[in-house]
Amino acid sequence: MMATTHALVGLAVAAVVTLVAPEYGVIAAAAGLTGGVFPDLDIYAGHRRTLHFPVYYTAAAAVAGVVAFVLPVPWTVGVAVFLAAAALHAASDALGGGLELEPWEGTSERAVYSHYHRRWVPPRRLVRYDGAPEDLALAALFGTPAALAFGPTVHQVVAVTLAVSAGWVVVRKHVPTVATWVVAQLPEGVHPHLPERFGP
Ligand SMILES: [Zn+2]
Repeated sequence: MMATTHALVGLAVAAVVTLVAPEYGVIAAAAGLTGGVFPDLDIYAGHRRTLHFPVYYTAAAAVAGVVAFVLPVPWTVGVAVFLAAAALHAASDALGGGLELEPWEGTSERAVYSHYHRRWVPPRRLVRYDGAPEDLALAALFGTPAALAFGPTVHQVVAVTLAVSAGWVVVRKHVPTVATWVVAQLPEGVHPHLPERFGP
């Protein structure tokens, strides 16, 4: 799934939190959006492994949730929402496509790495690949109602996020061709530093 979809799912978590604790709206929205994106910062170094912890994020989010419930202050609420959004991201990556340059081919059996199980979780492909039309539908489905829980700034963030997502959907299938061309232009010495799926 797209990082933007994960961000909006994270915002939906924040929206639920504001139903019971509206005073933490700003910190919850920021934590949900960043927590939703955070795991994908590993895109250039061990993607879907280095910062993806489907089991550990979930366990940490459960603990942080209890702490936030007992001691509701901005940072405990923020940490709990961040971890919950990151957990949903890592776990839901298993519902998308595999880790390959053209994920719609459906040849990869690696969706996300579970450090707890010490193995790759295979892709379920309910969302066939990041940038598939159903991925955008999911982003809108979570992002639109979530935005309504917040003010105009978040509305704008969601609108821009959905616009970027729509753009990605349009260009997605051309990306491998462009990426392969760019890699071919790079000096040989750079190749070892590229993600595996861009291989020389
Ligand atoms: Zn991911």
